[in-house]
Amino acid sequence: MQAEAVIARSAPARKVIPIVPYSVKGRYRNIKSLILNIAFGVYFLLPWLPWQNEVGQALLFDIGNSRFHILGLVLYPQDLMVLMGVMVIAASLLFISAAMFGRIFCGFFCFQTLWTDAFRFIEKWIQGEAQARKRLQQAPWSARKIALIGSTHALWLLLSFATAVTFTLYFADAGTLLAQIFAGKAAIAAYVTVSVLTATTYVAAGFAREDVCFVACPYGKFQGVMQDPSTVTVIYDEARGEREHGRQAPTAKLKTPEIRQSQGFGDCIDCNYCVNVCPTGVDIRKGFQIGCISCGLCVDACNNIMDSLKLPHGLIRFDRDENIQETDTRMQRWTKAKRAGYLAVLVASIAFTWHATSTITPFTAIVQQQRQPLVTQLADGSLRNRYELRITNKSGGTETYRIEAQGLPEGSFKGWKQITIPAGKSYASDFSVSLPPALATSTNSFIVRVTPQTQPDAPMELPMSYFAK
Ligand code: SF4
Ligand code: SF4
Repeated sequence: MQAEAVIARSAPARKVIPIVPYSVKGRYRNIKSLILNIAFGVYFLLPWLPWQNEVGQALLFDIGNSRFHILGLVLYPQDLMVLMGVMVIAASLLFISAAMFGRIFCGFFCFQTLWTDAFRFIEKWIQGEAQARKRLQQAPWSARKIALIGSTHALWLLLSFATAVTFTLYFADAGTLLAQIFAGKAAIAAYVTVSVLTATTYVAAGFAREDVCFVACPYGKFQGVMQDPSTVTVIYDEARGEREHGRQAPTAKLKTPEIRQSQGFGDCIDCNYCVNVCPTGVDIRKGFQIGCISCGLCVDACNNIMDSLKLPHGLIRFDRDENIQETDTRMQRWTKAKRAGYLAVLVASIAFTWHATSTITPFTAIVQQQRQPLVTQLADGSLRNRYELRITNKSGGTETYRIEAQGLPEGSFKGWKQITIPAGKSYASDFSVSLPPALATSTNSFIVRVTPQTQPDAPMELPMSYFAK
């Protein structure tokens, strides 16, 4: 087999030859296919997962009403802390995975990798294996070529369209929006989103492919600095592969592994299968490269070759650099400290998010004292302070709230006694406290108590100040 996937990535004016990777069977290919199936299943079915909540949908980002329904949880802008916590957890996991396993996220979980993989499955299904695809690319245009290339692009577009439509279903009632989209009755924003996402998915997974990882992905750019000699990455065992006299293709005189070893030739037979299966065109035998996304396909490829030569697996393998060559102890100490730091951030962010989630209340109530003027003397001599009360109903349904002032004489509080607020809405109103001068000078504070009708045992008490001058 010849090295056919060559890409000059560091040259200033690079010449790009399209990569047409070979198929390969093996453990990492199976893991990738399993993850692809699970990810697609989750992505395409999640909007349809019913849930016993107000919207009947397990996941719904209700932008119009400023709330997210996540299983039984309803998050409002006031619950920003929970979303921030989740983002910090995700970032910490990404950092830890990069420090421990290199670009494993890129190779197995990234949307770009998954969708490109799916597009390549379609390509292979219609056009055949890599050799057949290359022959087709080089062949002059004919009815057969038009049919094969045309049906490939038609299926790519169909998958891109399904991806885009599914994305919009996370933002509305899935069944209603889907019917509206196909009936031409959806909002213009839905059609714009579907058009833009269809086009970007088609271009990113069908044409840009690994160039997105090299050029556009910020994670790919900085994850290299998180790696160290303890990071598990895909490694070529150069000592075993090259020995004293380097690689050598099997010949009549080098038939058995024993003869090869006795003559100082390495276990690598220079078949280039590892390069030909690589989706990014990397030759891992040249050492770690920024283009390697740790997908493990070259490991599978080389293990297949080793099987055919009756040699042990692992000439290319997932391993730590420190297991191949010595690293100094200062670097090892720094590595441990760095990982402990990432772990500490992860634990702290999980604890923070847990606390923020468990303290989410079904409503918020805020009272602000009006200070212009702070005190007003009324015609009967009493002294009045004014306040604004804002209640936000964060529960799943309409709620009625009882409002009381504690620590004040009867009749001194004037404002809402009770208010009914629809789900997700926020109502505000002024109230005032007027006290005769003698009582006003001895009153410094009181409590506003807001009690939801459906949860009489969970009132919110807001201590407020009262000023006589
Ligand atoms: S697949 Fe293995 S034997 Fe073949 S070139 Fe790559 S490292 Fe060498
Ligand atoms: S070098 Fe190997 S692990 Fe890295 S991207 Fe290519 S096939 Fe995947």
